[in-house]
Amino acid sequence: MTHPRLRPDLQLRSGYHSPQVDVETRLNTNEAPTAPPPAFNQELDALISSISFHRYPDRSAALLTAGVAHADGVEANMVVCANGSNEILQAALLTFAGPGATVVVAEPTYALHSHIAQLLGCVVETVGRNADFTIDAAAMVDAVNAHDAAIAFVCSPNNPTGTLEPLATIERLVAETKAMVIVDEAYGQFAPRSVLDLDRRLLERIIVVRTFSKTWALAGVRLGYTISAPSVIAGITQGLLPYHLSSLTQAAGLAALSTAPSMSLRIAHIIEQRGLLVAGLAELPVTQWPSAANFILFAPDDTDADDVWQQLVDRGVLVRNCAGWPGLSNCLRVTVGTTAENQQFLHALREVLQ
Ligand code: PMP
Repeated sequence: MTHPRLRPDLQLRSGYHSPQVDVETRLNTNEAPTAPPPAFNQELDALISSISFHRYPDRSAALLTAGVAHADGVEANMVVCANGSNEILQAALLTFAGPGATVVVAEPTYALHSHIAQLLGCVVETVGRNADFTIDAAAMVDAVNAHDAAIAFVCSPNNPTGTLEPLATIERLVAETKAMVIVDEAYGQFAPRSVLDLDRRLLERIIVVRTFSKTWALAGVRLGYTISAPSVIAGITQGLLPYHLSSLTQAAGLAALSTAPSMSLRIAHIIEQRGLLVAGLAELPVTQWPSAANFILFAPDDTDADDVWQQLVDRGVLVRNCAGWPGLSNCLRVTVGTTAENQQFLHALREVLQ
């Protein structure tokens, strides 16, 4: 029951959170399929034993920030870390938008962009996508300008469609509007190109958001970061609470960075497995969309997605049911898992559809 004192304007979307069903194979939340390598645990143990737990953490997370910046080839003053990329999104919305400001999203996309914006009292304007799920760039430029929007959201690769956005769309948003452009690259390391390939001077207007939840296999830690121009980073930092990033989180991030070579191999493996899933789905009566992420969106051609979802659960496989999301009728999304999990998924889906 809704509490009578709850803010009346909070008409939050229901059904965002994926049900945490207790099944053997969970391919519903785009996590890494396996735990970090053993070297991560060894490094983390060593780092934890040197933490002064009675002291507040390093407020600027200087070592971690420098490590992240080095890994992504930027200067340390172009990075700020936070408790998951969701906290970055919240801080950026607080400091570059705020109550009453307009933000523009292109649906279907990651629900938390509009969800957090609404929580913070922003007005959310929605534009559509082209048939291939790329953003309708002209519509987004028009919407941003018509509403004098503070922020335009681009998610690339887009969750849940997997679509890699043309860099020209991002350049156009910067050139033809005055908004800050948040480019959510939570899945950026699985994709062949990044907004960081553009002229770095554009970062005065672009906020790149990344996470350790996917590629670094640290969804349980809650660590994300943003890359932008130093003045933008200083602005976003104002939206974060002091000492927001615990010593434990900082240590986990540093330990993860020390395993960079094995993480690169894992990313290559996931991309290879994605290819095998695409090939497997191509043999079944489903429509699928090209993905540059660690998941694939697909729609059963002649069977109801809700039924398929339930029958997969009955066979011990959990995928994300997107069928109720705007613009995604009859769609399901499967995360790339381990080789065995992917085979189990394809086997179960074959049984359900045939
Ligand atoms: N952005 C996108 C596009 C995502 O899909 C997710 C996770 N589902 C996030 C951000 C949030 O990631 P984090 O765990 O870093 O908060």
